[in-house]
Amino acid sequence: MSEPPARTPHVETHCPYCALQCGTRLSGDRDMGVTVRPAEFPTNRGRLCQKGWTAPDVLAAADRLTVPLVRAPDGNLTETTWDRALDTVAGRLRELRTRYGPDTVAAFGGGGLTNEKAYLLGKFARLALGTSQIDYNGRFCMASAAAAGKAAFGVDRGLPFPVTDLAAADTVLLAGANVAETMPPLMQHLDTAELIVIDPRHTPTAQRAKLHLQPAPGTDLALALGLLHITVVDGLTDAEYIRRRTHGFASAVRQAMAWWPERVEAVTGVPASTQRAAARMLAAARNAYILTGRGVEQNSQGTDTAAAFINLALALGLPGSGHGGYGCLTGQGNGQGGREHGQKADQLPGYRSLTDPEARAHVAGVWGVPPESLPGPGRTAYELLDSLGRDQGPRALLIFGSNPVVSAPNAAHVAERLASLDLLVVADFVPSETARTADVVLPVTQWAEEEGTLTSLEGRVLRRRALLTPPPHVRTDLEVLHGLAVRLGEPPHRYPTAPRDVFDELRAASRGGPADYSGINYRRLDAGEALHWPCPATEPAHPGTPRLFLERFTHPDGRARFAEVDHRGPAEAVSAAYPLHATTGRVLAHYQSGAQTRRVAELHGAAPEPLISVHPDTAARAGVAGRALARVTSARGSMTARIQLDPTMRPDTLFIPFHFPGDGSANLFTNPALDPRSGMPEFKLSAVRLEPLPEATP
Ligand code: SF4
Repeated sequence: MSEPPARTPHVETHCPYCALQCGTRLSGDRDMGVTVRPAEFPTNRGRLCQKGWTAPDVLAAADRLTVPLVRAPDGNLTETTWDRALDTVAGRLRELRTRYGPDTVAAFGGGGLTNEKAYLLGKFARLALGTSQIDYNGRFCMASAAAAGKAAFGVDRGLPFPVTDLAAADTVLLAGANVAETMPPLMQHLDTAELIVIDPRHTPTAQRAKLHLQPAPGTDLALALGLLHITVVDGLTDAEYIRRRTHGFASAVRQAMAWWPERVEAVTGVPASTQRAAARMLAAARNAYILTGRGVEQNSQGTDTAAAFINLALALGLPGSGHGGYGCLTGQGNGQGGREHGQKADQLPGYRSLTDPEARAHVAGVWGVPPESLPGPGRTAYELLDSLGRDQGPRALLIFGSNPVVSAPNAAHVAERLASLDLLVVADFVPSETARTADVVLPVTQWAEEEGTLTSLEGRVLRRRALLTPPPHVRTDLEVLHGLAVRLGEPPHRYPTAPRDVFDELRAASRGGPADYSGINYRRLDAGEALHWPCPATEPAHPGTPRLFLERFTHPDGRARFAEVDHRGPAEAVSAAYPLHATTGRVLAHYQSGAQTRRVAELHGAAPEPLISVHPDTAARAGVAGRALARVTSARGSMTARIQLDPTMRPDTLFIPFHFPGDGSANLFTNPALDPRSGMPEFKLSAVRLEPLPEATP
């Protein structure tokens, strides 16, 4: 009898990239290669984008980090043992803390870290390092929408409804969200809806729209105020909903009354007739959604802009109505869970505030420490990066899952601050641009080599599962944190290394908080239950909360809040020296700083270099031809790339993707002006000039 064929190992897991967290089935091994298939998961229903299909290639990256590295006296990174690497880091951290105090050491996390990693990193920073100086790259992504959502509804969950609800929509307004490129499988849920797209570019999403509103960059807030103005003046509001379920309508309307359509047209460039058509489409819909993305949020008035779109949704009676709603589209893979469990500067697990005495007492109790030993809030991400190596600023930084040399605004300045540190430690699985500048590099596992959980853009907690054993000498981030904490004098049991144990502790720490995970466990997730937070521990088991706000909003009185907001304009105006707007964003083939996707041959081949998209007339005025190399310069710095002529661009605006390093990095010119409430930098708008490169000038 012949032996039955060996079963191919396989696991059900999720794509490592964006917050749609498409379900996948992985099979194979390192020798045969890993194959990915889309799963019939609700968000992707059997589809993947190009990034999802090619994700296994990163597992076999030729330059995968497999051994700890330390910088030798000759300046080169050289291989070492784990014990030596961790002893070096812990020794330097101890010295710096003793000499200058605990806030002299800092940590920086990422929105791609699993819930378990984000939780343990926050705990490690506050207990083992004893520092207030921790924040993460999600501050550059979701902070404005999160601040606006929390103020309006009492809690921030990107989509307070499942993605699949969108399939019943007849009208969807997408403000600053190019989902056809950034989350292609989501478009199938919008197949039957009429789309209104607000975007300065004629993106692939805008090409699908019934109505495309193309405002000047940085004027979305004026446009949102104008849409509310029309809604009120034309009698399109839901008066009963406003009376019963909200506060603050009159104050919001007072501001909006100053934004009549012709004034909005003068500021934004969107014709008054198009504004009216958009407001009427939304009001006439039986089932309308308003969704915002980074395009309207990544600027210095991003929180107010998100709040203005929430005002519009509330005036139309959408959030929590069961026939429409408002949501913001989270970007990074664990952008939602990553902002709930304590790696934010001002926050404790369960989406609790670090300044709330009750929250401090609860979390300190779970951690077995006195509440007064927990540090207070620290600096937000850019403020933290900007303070490195300065008086009163941190002298050591530990980075997990982030590549700020490429992804932070004003990137050359950030690289300088990093270089000024006494100690830079980077835990990563590839030698990112930031890792290459580190004093110590710690090789860690990646998605298909590790277990854990992530929380998708709809607040659903998902299991990440390991198909492969990690390469020898590669450790998990949890093991790294454990190893460092013990060397810093912490009791070993305080830093579990098994993801399930960390999750169980996270559940206890989140119990009773806004993002309550206490009723969720690996057993329920592995049984395939769809569990959206809040999911408290109850008897019988709580089913989770796929739809928030149906009965009441999360504020104590159950009502949503309108925000009183006004358009201030961008932090940086165009001038004779810098006469154009430049905006940045993502393209289909790449993800974030490109550290992973630039290592995938198919993705690199599809978009091998940055391009400056520009209207042909603007290019002609600047003296640059199509495909020529050109320079874009702001008050902060210059980047160079080839010209891509695009007649659909606004003549006053350039678009440049931000995935590329070196001279082609868009963040060399971006503006670190911060939103005063969220700490979000103004990525989406810089005043720039466009010039031919001298060698390219005829
Ligand atoms: Fe992955 Fe996002 Fe693409 Fe889905 S849409 S395959 S989660 S990158």
